[in-house]
Amino acid sequence: QVPLKPGRSLMDWIRLTKSGKDLTGLKGRLIEVTEDELSKHNKKEDCWICIRGFVYNVTPYMEYHPGGEDELMRAAGTDGTDLFDQVHRWVNYESMLKECLVGRMAVKPIAAPKGELLHILIFYSRYLKMKLLKYLFFSLFCFLFYSYDWFQTDSLVTIVIYTKQKDMNAELVIVDCQDKQLRGEIIMDDRSYLVEVDLDHAVSEDVAVNIAEKVGKVEIILNKKDNIHWKTLGQPGEGHNTFIKRTDRGLFYRKCKLVSKTEVTPDTKLFYLMLPKGTHLHVPIGQHVYLKQIIAGTEVVKPYTPVLPFLPLDIQEPPHHDGVHIYLMIKIYSHGLFTQALDHLQIGDYISVSNPEGNFKKSQVQISEDLLLLAGGTGFTPMVKLLNFALTEVSCLRTAKLIFFNKTEDDILWRNQLEQLALKDERFEVQFILSQPSKDWVGKQGNISSSLLSEFVKRSRRDSKVLICICGPAPFTEQGVQYLKDLGYSQGEIHAFTA
Ligand code: FAD
Ligand code: NAP
Repeated sequence: QVPLKPGRSLMDWIRLTKSGKDLTGLKGRLIEVTEDELSKHNKKEDCWICIRGFVYNVTPYMEYHPGGEDELMRAAGTDGTDLFDQVHRWVNYESMLKECLVGRMAVKPIAAPKGELLHILIFYSRYLKMKLLKYLFFSLFCFLFYSYDWFQTDSLVTIVIYTKQKDMNAELVIVDCQDKQLRGEIIMDDRSYLVEVDLDHAVSEDVAVNIAEKVGKVEIILNKKDNIHWKTLGQPGEGHNTFIKRTDRGLFYRKCKLVSKTEVTPDTKLFYLMLPKGTHLHVPIGQHVYLKQIIAGTEVVKPYTPVLPFLPLDIQEPPHHDGVHIYLMIKIYSHGLFTQALDHLQIGDYISVSNPEGNFKKSQVQISEDLLLLAGGTGFTPMVKLLNFALTEVSCLRTAKLIFFNKTEDDILWRNQLEQLALKDERFEVQFILSQPSKDWVGKQGNISSSLLSEFVKRSRRDSKVLICICGPAPFTEQGVQYLKDLGYSQGEIHAFTA
């Protein structure tokens, strides 16, 4: 993220796209763009980029791009699909850049002199053979590791997925069943297996998911609305029975109901969202979801990290996963595009919530003896589940310390709860550091720095296994990681939560 000039916010961009100004320079005409033509538009003042077969003139968007002009220029005059998918898979460019659409990429004609035709044919047959082999390999792989079956009784339809994964658990299974559409996704590292069917008949909203963890069998049990015999399960959807990279699937959203919102600090609220009845979704520790809203006619998506409804004080209490609610702690910015719209949602309104994403692995904390959490402002959110998990389920944990940076005392999230937890659990310690304290503040003050970190970040024993997690404003996180490395902590001992 780079600082944008005044008047270059996302809202300003949306306003510009609605102004009727010709943003492509083609007066609304759509053209077919050849690779040759595309490559000519590779300068800041004349920059075209192809994303998923569509070509956009991004010159007018340059100054509005949150990642900065240089990042956009990396794809200038080329097909930037892979680059965009790596960094911004969740951004809906069709919606954001629709006024910049120049046209489609032209299909490349295969024109070649006769002598070369043979080479081209050989090349394509090899290429197709490779593709076919790849397809057969993945089909076999999918068949070996994943398969599904279904059976019915008078009142139930059960879909059984055999994952052959021994460590199957509720976080790896995401099921959505609404209006006859069934979608069941099983996560396996960076790939996922999908059952996607337009069901033969209507089912009720109650869906049960049974997981036999040791044998890796997942059952999705649907209640028939009418007790009739189904001839088939239904019509397969586009992604049905596929086992592919998760990044190759579009983000799936379901509409969640806003049940309540409560104040945490003057500008931060806890939003309680209720998943639809037919949804089974547990957001893993350290992962975030995307919320999607239509703002001024444009689809806007932002990431948020689910927390717990409160910090449990009793270490015997199992982590709170009711599988029904998602709790989000969100700071409302006075000029924030998304959070202002979010704050205007009424109780009972709906908002789209995506499947979880993120690269934090629970196993990182399962082996740690000293856990150090460095949070800046709402960068506290990933720490909530992480801390609870470490204190309740990591038996080798000896110490857990949260170093929490905020501007003022009023900004400290869940201060009471954190202090109570520190009193209750002697392994846990919390240190608040304020960058803009009032005169009365007797605690530590300052910004993240090498000297502050060397004072607070310590191993409990010389050889103890340590995990340091850091999250906050991007420069805070970047500087923090550098200071930690300067202090001698290795890359493997640090996890930075970033976009
Ligand atoms: P924006 O419109 O993006 O503005 C944010 C702030 O910047 C405002 O103060 C605004 O006035 C200012 N601003 C906007 N444009 C400019 C400009 N051109 N120049 C100077 N200042 C400007 N946030 C949470 O509260 N809770 C979470 O759990 C959470 N989880 C996250 C997880 C991840 C993985 C990431 C990457 C971010 C997370 N965030 C979280 C941040 C969140 O995604 C949004 O960035 C945040 O809510 C702000 O969105 P907004 O559209 O309201 O603000
Ligand atoms: P904030 O209140 O503005 O700042 C919190 C603390 O960080 C303050 O002490 C502040 O000091 C300091 N800080 C801010 N900018 C800094 C910088 N450039 N260098 C060093 N210290 C800095 O924070 P916020 O508004 O809550 O924002 C939280 C951030 O966390 C957002 O950017 C959000 O996107 C991010 N976040 C990320 C994730 C994730 O998973 N990636 C999850 C949640 C939140 P000053 O007084 O000096 O500003």
